Amino acid sequence: SKDAGGGKHNCYEPQLHANAEERRTLEIALRSALEKGEFHLVYQPVVSADDSAIEGFETLLRWTHPEMGVIPPYKFITVAEDARLIAPIGEWVLRTACEEAVNWPSTVRVAVNVSAEQLSDPNFVTAVISALSHSGLPPHRLELEVTESVFLREGTGAIAILDQILGLGVRLALDDFGTGYSSLGYLRKTQFSTIKIDRSFVQGAAKKSAESLAIIRAVVAMADSLGMTTTAEGAETEEEFEMIRELGCTKVQGYLFGKPMVAEEARKLMVRAQQR
Ligand code: C2E
Ligand code: CA
Ligand code: CA
Ligand code: CA
Repeated sequence: SKDAGGGKHNCYEPQLHANAEERRTLEIALRSALEKGEFHLVYQPVVSADDSAIEGFETLLRWTHPEMGVIPPYKFITVAEDARLIAPIGEWVLRTACEEAVNWPSTVRVAVNVSAEQLSDPNFVTAVISALSHSGLPPHRLELEVTESVFLREGTGAIAILDQILGLGVRLALDDFGTGYSSLGYLRKTQFSTIKIDRSFVQGAAKKSAESLAIIRAVVAMADSLGMTTTAEGAETEEEFEMIRELGCTKVQGYLFGKPMVAEEARKLMVRAQQR
């Protein structure tokens, strides 16, 4: 269709086409990725802002396709959600992370990301119960990270599912705070242990952005008065860490303290920390 339409049409169509085609290719490959064992998990340390002690690790999913190579989560998570593949993949992540974390020191928690799609399926609660009972991980050592988008889906039963999960003794963290739909009403509806402050605010604060500073101050004050902790995400530099400490965030996560690492490296990091 080279001569169809104007230059504008020809300019934009190939990009759109490639994108849809890429998504289709990814979807087909994703359908067999679990059974072919193409996924693995990496863990990123979350440390105390006071003394840098390891509080836990966030579980992050990695997909290596034999021909396409390493495919980043931002490319395949939304494809998995749209293709209804996130439930089985998410169950695998949950089960595998719990099995790994049960061998860690008993003070160290494991966090697992959960898509809004997973929380509109009542079977999700069963999957959490089964991951805990098969692994033997105490519920209070598991934290599920959900984003504000969960609360956009009124009527999907997501809030009731979150309540059932809280009833198990599992903790909840509100992820990417401040980047999405922002209404504070749901902070009364669901009991979060932790608010994760998105990296964009952390970067902004270190650059002395008045808005970022004011937002982090307000979030920390609100979390304190509601009995929640705060985790600042994506700290890469000493300047960012200094600012985070000054602002009173409870915990920090970022390349400065450790990139996402395979389970064996995470274990070594914990052993070294215990010897100190
Ligand atoms: P997220 O939950 O906000 O995870 C944090 C992301 O920030 C991770 O990217 C992590 O590697 C990156 N990060 C951490 N520290 C730094 C830093 O200091 N600097 C920079 N530039 N980046 C940092 P990753 O692993 O690519 O994951 C991207 C997103 O994919 C996650 O964002 C999460 O929304 C999603 N995701 C990853 N694993 C899973 C999973 O198992 N299930 C679901 N549903 N989503 C997942
Ligand atoms: Ca997260
Ligand atoms: Ca996040
Ligand atoms: Ca994010």
